[in-house]
Amino acid sequence: MRVLLIGSGGREHALALGLTADPAVQLVAAPGNPGIAEVAELRDVVATDPAAVAALAVEVGADLVVVGPEAPLVAGVADAVRAKGIACFGPSGAAAQLEGSKAFAKDVMTSAGVPTARAYACTIEAEVDQALDEFGAPYVVKNDGLAAGKGVVVTEDRAAAVAHARDCGRVVIEEFLSGPEVSLFVVTDGTAAVPLMPAQDFKRVGDGDAGPNTGGMGAYAPLPWAPADLVDRVMAETVHPTLAEMRRRGTPFAGLLYVGLALTPNGPKVIEFNARFGDPETQVVLALLETPLAGLLRAAATGELAAHPPLRWRPGAAVTVVVASHNYPGTPRTGDVITGAEAPGVIHAGTVRRPDGVLVSAGGRVLSVTATGPDLAGAREAAYALVEGITLDGSHHRTDIALRAAQGQITVP
Ligand code: AMP
Repeated sequence: MRVLLIGSGGREHALALGLTADPAVQLVAAPGNPGIAEVAELRDVVATDPAAVAALAVEVGADLVVVGPEAPLVAGVADAVRAKGIACFGPSGAAAQLEGSKAFAKDVMTSAGVPTARAYACTIEAEVDQALDEFGAPYVVKNDGLAAGKGVVVTEDRAAAVAHARDCGRVVIEEFLSGPEVSLFVVTDGTAAVPLMPAQDFKRVGDGDAGPNTGGMGAYAPLPWAPADLVDRVMAETVHPTLAEMRRRGTPFAGLLYVGLALTPNGPKVIEFNARFGDPETQVVLALLETPLAGLLRAAATGELAAHPPLRWRPGAAVTVVVASHNYPGTPRTGDVITGAEAPGVIHAGTVRRPDGVLVSAGGRVLSVTATGPDLAGAREAAYALVEGITLDGSHHRTDIALRAAQGQITVP
């Protein structure tokens, strides 16, 4: 099976490793990165240009196109690929609005009766003030459009909440949800839906969840503290009603539905939907998935998911630790030399090879260092041992990924 993978980050490197674990897969990636280059042929493409991606899929003779990031999906890349008669894993541009617009996602959730935070879409300052008054602190203010995981401000500071609303123009202001967060990935063909293993990511930059939000500083799976019925409950209360509502609207959602949840005292509630695999949770979930990934994604892309055999998982646990550039999540410094990135488990997120062949940093999140172990403590130890083997001037990483879970300190209200 010839697979074309679109994207260039850590999620795509993890997908590339998952796809090529199957000897039947020949992988082409565009634009890819130096880590992906070890397992795939790289081609150049503007990932957000639907016609260019579709033409490349035809040129390389792809049997399946897998779209990693959200921006190409929202731009309609999956529609353009399918119009060429090629199977594509990823929702249509219309369905990707579940991620592309927070206001659209809220509207779908309300119609479908999905448990989520109460919210208002606001554009003018009077609406913003009224919503902030109604919900009180902590304030949750979300940019309506795509913001690469950084459009959300959660703050006790009213002035900061108002300022973020003003900077964004159109925002969704919502009730604060308390409780541990869970990321659940669901593979779907629009009707049948297969949940993957729930994971937890770490959005804040610093240990103990200090500092600003980032794209994600680490992740782990499985979640030993999660209620036994969590996945069944979320599939019944959230996933199937959402898929049904999307079908009812004539824009079925097929691809990867990422459900970001808070486990509140009143049950699991949706914090956000994304239309693609999460980064860095993909790194840990795929490290534990034994079922061949390409077959699963192709079944979803061709509407045959109901006939797919049940998923098989490896025993044990996985942890990924993101190594970030100097100054991230502010404007990151790039061009720093990286050593130690060849070790198995080191996933490339923001790297580039200089003309002289030296590997250097090229973004905020540079590497996503992933390891498995018999349990979370063992996986943590292995991941941090790998981090020790890396040098990158000015870099930083969290030291507490999966720590509280490994110590049994997380409780569900
Ligand atoms: P999002 O981009 O919507 O996932 O938001 C980023 C992060 O902000 C989430 O992972 C949460 O930690 C936090 N957040 C978003 N919405 C809420 C909410 N309603 N209540 C509490 N925290 C939230």
